[in-house]
Amino acid sequence: MAHSKPLIASILLAMCGCLISTAQAQVPAKKLFGAKKLPAVLKPAVHGFYNKGCVQGAVAVPIDGPNHQAMRLSRNRRWGHPELVELVLRLAADGKKVGWNGLLVGDLSQPRGGPMLSGHASHQLGLDADVWLNPMPDKRYSRGQRERVSARSMLQRNGKGMFVDEKVWTEGHAGVIRTAASYSNVERVLVHPGIKKKLCDTVKGDRSWMSKVRPYWGHHYHMHIRIGCPAGSTNCRRQAAPPKGDGCGGALKWWFDVGLRPPKKTKRPAKPAKPKPQIRLKDLPRACRVVLSAAEPENELAATAKFVNNIAVLPKPTPAAAAANRVAAGTAADVPLPKFRPAGSCTGLC
Ligand SMILES: [Zn+2]
Repeated sequence: MAHSKPLIASILLAMCGCLISTAQAQVPAKKLFGAKKLPAVLKPAVHGFYNKGCVQGAVAVPIDGPNHQAMRLSRNRRWGHPELVELVLRLAADGKKVGWNGLLVGDLSQPRGGPMLSGHASHQLGLDADVWLNPMPDKRYSRGQRERVSARSMLQRNGKGMFVDEKVWTEGHAGVIRTAASYSNVERVLVHPGIKKKLCDTVKGDRSWMSKVRPYWGHHYHMHIRIGCPAGSTNCRRQAAPPKGDGCGGALKWWFDVGLRPPKKTKRPAKPAKPKPQIRLKDLPRACRVVLSAAEPENELAATAKFVNNIAVLPKPTPAAAAANRVAAGTAADVPLPKFRPAGSCTGLC
């Protein structure tokens, strides 16, 4: 029985997914995804949910651009679905129009998404980006400075208060948050409740974008931008839309009455906290096994956006990515393995 090369390759790749499942399904997924330095060379798509999933065909935000600087480079979290990277670079340019002097870009995702060795429960799909709430300085930071420089909290007493510090808050802050929330593919912008309150108290005119600006703990040094499932990512689970309205009523009041208050002390000694259950590879969509085992690009630059005449250009999927995607198509959607298995192991391809 004759088999075409792509078919055999497809079967081999499916087996790779199978081999990973038996040998590594119990391994904490953060170890596997945290070890990947480069993305999966596959057509861009995401699998799963924001706090339990992965991304294939991710691209990187460049370290520098005319309107941004990427921070904390050692973390290697400049990766995202191309739609997110395009959006971050667009916001960097659009921010200039509303008095925001460029973006300091924090974490997006790991090269293949997935759980991280430290920080962030979400940011797993390449659809979340943290953007600092300090405007970019006119000078370029060195690599060392990008590790060391701290963001300034937007709250009183440099982060200890509940409300925005009027000495640090500017019209530019409101402008860049409004711009981010106004993009149609942005579904949420998470900010500290104190920042949400400031917007509630001061935004005039159109407030339709404010439903997307959601209060959450932390997020007074940065805002967290989340886009929806990209077209073609059929394996991506959508998050429910935020409630309609500007979100300035009772829901916001709860934060100041309850959410931000420290819990009352009890007399009984607290039980030692149970360790959080780890996400294992078996807990992620099966397609993430294919993402883990897929080939990587030649180098980081090949998968990084560039600037041509100050316009951001995203890397085009290479012929290799297109071919790999055709091969993976049968496995990425959790289809059963084919019965036919070629003799020999797939060690060389896995
Ligand atoms: Zn975040």
